[in-house]
Amino acid sequence: MNNQEDKPVIYTYPDPVLRATALPVENIDGNLLKIADHMINVMYSAPGIGLAANQVGELERLIVFDLQPGKEGREPCVLINPEIVLSEGEVKYEEACLSVIDFSAEVTRDAKVKVRGVDRHGKPFDIEAEGLLAICLQHEIDHLNGVLYIDHISSLKRALYKKKLKKKLKEMK
Ligand SMILES: [Zn+2]
Repeated sequence: MNNQEDKPVIYTYPDPVLRATALPVENIDGNLLKIADHMINVMYSAPGIGLAANQVGELERLIVFDLQPGKEGREPCVLINPEIVLSEGEVKYEEACLSVIDFSAEVTRDAKVKVRGVDRHGKPFDIEAEGLLAICLQHEIDHLNGVLYIDHISSLKRALYKKKLKKKLKEMK
């Protein structure tokens, strides 16, 4: 889990960077694209289907996702300054997160969303999503606002998780 600078590859709860609000991207420059490529690598090696910049310690409004990370001829999607412009319906799904270790829980989300953002070339585009993609986009955009999926579960379940995590972190020391 250590790199040369001894920083975590993926920041995990309760790290404060996961609670910070990421800032809108103003310039899509080499540095931003480097972060995007790093996130894609981290997502595939985890493996996960999505990652937000906060999770690698960067406060930029930037997410990457690929619902089929195991597929050959991978097509990762980079979305900059994503915004939910329309939402509809309700869906329940068992979610997990690379930043919330050893846990999963059912979360209620909007069933369909329309998300607006720009791609890595700065070209605006809309995604109309339902199913897992809609859930993934809402989960990742939440990260950019400092929100975790465990914020959407009952306080009792969240308290149980915190207790379990505390015990685990103690054992790891
Ligand atoms: Zn997550």
